[in-house]
Amino acid sequence: VQSRLPDVGTSIFSVMSKMALEHGAINLSQGFPDFSIDEKIIQLVNKYMLQGNNQYAPMPGSPSLRERIASVIFKTYKVKVDLETDVTVTAGATEGLFSVIAAFVGSGDEVIVFDTAYDSYDPSIRLNGGVPVHIDLNYPDFSIDWDRVRNKITKRTRAIIINTPHNPTGTVLKEADLIELEKIVLEHNILVISDEVYERLIYDNTKHQSVLTRPALAGHSLAVFSFGKTFHATGWKCGYVIAPAYLSKEVRRAHQFIVFSVNTPVQMALAEYMNEEGHYLHLGKFYQEKRDFFLQQIKGSSFEPLPSYGSYFQLLSYKNISQKGDVEMAEELTKKFKVASIPVSVFYKNETDNKLLRFCFAKKESTLEKAATILRSI
Ligand code: PMP
Ligand code: GLN
Repeated sequence: VQSRLPDVGTSIFSVMSKMALEHGAINLSQGFPDFSIDEKIIQLVNKYMLQGNNQYAPMPGSPSLRERIASVIFKTYKVKVDLETDVTVTAGATEGLFSVIAAFVGSGDEVIVFDTAYDSYDPSIRLNGGVPVHIDLNYPDFSIDWDRVRNKITKRTRAIIINTPHNPTGTVLKEADLIELEKIVLEHNILVISDEVYERLIYDNTKHQSVLTRPALAGHSLAVFSFGKTFHATGWKCGYVIAPAYLSKEVRRAHQFIVFSVNTPVQMALAEYMNEEGHYLHLGKFYQEKRDFFLQQIKGSSFEPLPSYGSYFQLLSYKNISQKGDVEMAEELTKKFKVASIPVSVFYKNETDNKLLRFCFAKKESTLEKAATILRSI
């Protein structure tokens, strides 16, 4: 058969997690917590299932959950979103991103993607007939060169995808970035797809710059979020898209034929759990402590950390250890030293040789300690 994605192999997350399992390595590769989620929320799913909430949820999401999302967004960003028209619950951020792209990107439409980029953006654009236009982030601070963005805009530019806090680098956009983005978007009438799944995982008293906080920008934006990150439950695959009614309407047109609707008892449980004061308010502190613990534990090793201001990822440079490519290095670390990570070059369209590996610190201290002991010995 003619492949629609002939150059795409199995996702690096599956590859590295499988390798970790096969070789008994500590898995700091794929991003997911290795600690338990709050039992209360599990009991809530159970409760809603036992109460008989086991049939299709409404297509845009359970009303109770959309109400909670709107309320938490107001509390967080002082922005009013209409639960009827602006909130769509999706099967994780991955489906949210795909539905957004399917809704707006057609044959030959160009979408600007910053490399290194999360791995689903490029194939999602191409599966919908679009053309990803890759722009490398500046190295080594992974900032965006907005003049380069301006130079890449054509009549076919449909959207720009941003991601803050950023996977895999842990960088965050500044207010000045959103101001530049807003100018470009308004001038050229372009959409912004804003991947904000790590909105709560932001450190050192930095403020998350959400597109939702700038009304003119928000008018052109689709912001994508994930409960997987916020509630430590990546396996539940539940997230949401926030966009003005005229954009959400189109997202729902696609979403209803991609999954129709999302797991009912999980949505109801999340809605009730989100009533609990505070859980999400402490996530930044919680993960900052993990980042700091990991950094402290690898002190004295030959790996060099780059700054991580957000997300649950820490980049380490191994340039003082080996001149191997990062894919080979990650494989050797997993098979020989028993610590799995993600090679960063796979997130680039163009070939790169930055000698960087990504480590996920959403792990128990004991896991991080064991991994760091190994890393110090290399
Ligand atoms: N975007 C980014 C930047 C991510 O890191 C992830 C998951 N790790 C996703 C989207 C997908 O989120 P979900 O698991 O909710 O589909
Ligand atoms: N987003 C997670 C990561 O960056 C993994 C998601 C996935 O496995 N598809 O590691």
